[in-house]
Amino acid sequence: MTPNPGASGSVDAQVIDVDAFSEKCVAWLDEHLDRRETGPAVAADPNYAIFHNHTHDEERALIDAARDWQRKRVDAGFGAITWGSEWGGAGLTASHERVYVGLERQYTTPDRHETVLVTVELVAPTLHALGTEEQRQRFVRPFLRTDELCCQLFSEPGAGSDLAGLSTKAAATGDGWRINGQKVWSSGAQFSEWGLLIARTDTTVAKHRGMTAFMVPMDAPGVDVRPIRQSSGGSTFNEVFLTDVEIPDSLRIGAEGDGWKVALTTLGFERNSSAGIVSAGGNSADLVRLAKSLGITDDPLVRQQLADAAIYERASALMVARYAEREQSGAVPGVEGSIGKLVWTQNLKRIGDAAASFLGPKILADTGEPNTFAWTEHLLGAPGYRIAGGSDEIQRNIIGERGLGLPREPR
Ligand SMILES: Cc1cc2nc3c(=O)[nH]c(=O)nc-3n(C[C@H](O)[C@H](O)[C@H](O)COP(=O)(O)OP(=O)(O)OC[C@H]3O[C@@H](n4cnc5c(N)ncnc54)[C@H](O)[C@@H]3O)c2cc1C
Repeated sequence: MTPNPGASGSVDAQVIDVDAFSEKCVAWLDEHLDRRETGPAVAADPNYAIFHNHTHDEERALIDAARDWQRKRVDAGFGAITWGSEWGGAGLTASHERVYVGLERQYTTPDRHETVLVTVELVAPTLHALGTEEQRQRFVRPFLRTDELCCQLFSEPGAGSDLAGLSTKAAATGDGWRINGQKVWSSGAQFSEWGLLIARTDTTVAKHRGMTAFMVPMDAPGVDVRPIRQSSGGSTFNEVFLTDVEIPDSLRIGAEGDGWKVALTTLGFERNSSAGIVSAGGNSADLVRLAKSLGITDDPLVRQQLADAAIYERASALMVARYAEREQSGAVPGVEGSIGKLVWTQNLKRIGDAAASFLGPKILADTGEPNTFAWTEHLLGAPGYRIAGGSDEIQRNIIGERGLGLPREPR
């Protein structure tokens, strides 16, 4: 990749060595953020939530803060470190990116947000890989900077794990397409300007070959976004109804009939992206602090649980790093993404279960004692990421069939 020719300011035009890069990162981060408190103390009001439970306005404010930060990073050359300068990236290596991510974690940053993650880490790389030159020019940089947001319109009421069974239809109109159908579990659709949609365009061929991908403007006539109120209070998800939505053929991504390939590409990026969200919920350091505050660190079973959480957290980070190296060498997302996602989601569960076993009944009732009831949000949120982007069972099928070459499951 081409190094960033300084359009963004803080990162040099030449590929700089990792140590020099690290110094630049620290100088820039010091200028823009506060250092995170370290040490054994627990914040008075710790937040281990994996998903948000906010009102619409609170959610909007959270997204705006995440977008501002993403833009600042991209403009300084730290937001799209491995991307080429033509996309506003820094053109550096996965090692540079790892250094930056590790350093940024030492500072207090705005919360990341699913809608921003979907736009930056799923849709931008998919369009970069499979879009026409015109589409790449139109979408990639605005998505990396989050000037515009894009949601993922894949799942349907009857098509989740079996995505190829989807029934939303796109019919050719001559110079474009007319779309009819329903999507569900569309995270952030109410805040997005665009949706990456997979629809059925041919019912006469095998289901995997009869689908096509499109970019849909979410303000197009006929697009109706209906937030789903979750029992926990928030409305992260939506149903999206599409009634006679007309779009030009220039918004088709890939060839007609290539929708499955587009979906697999996005899902590959999604698995890796999910595995990278190490900041979601409580982590192994939080768990150690919890055990210390309860005075149970001498218990060998507790020590084993703490060690397991730390080991798998490290394994998860290494999987992400390995994947990033492969991606940079031009490889398409492979089975590593599934392994990384599985290791990460299993550890989310492991950490939640450990916290519950340490706390016992204290995790059930909000007594006002800090660092106790807060863990409930981790425990209840972890199953969500064990489903999103392909459930644990589906990741195991992918690893078994595509990675290990085991016989395919009977279908
Ligand atoms: C937090 C979250 C965010 C999401 N965001 C989005 C989004 O933005 N856009 C979007 O399009 N979708 C989104 N989804 C939907 C998600 O992709 C689907 O929920 C997921 O693919 C599973 O599909 P399903 O819910 O239809 O479950 P089903 O496919 O009905 O599966 C039900 C259960 O059966 C198991 N199962 C199914 N098939 C097999 C098999 N062959 N072998 C073994 N077990 C199997 C599954 O693992 C699961 O445990 C989101 C989901 C969550 C939880």
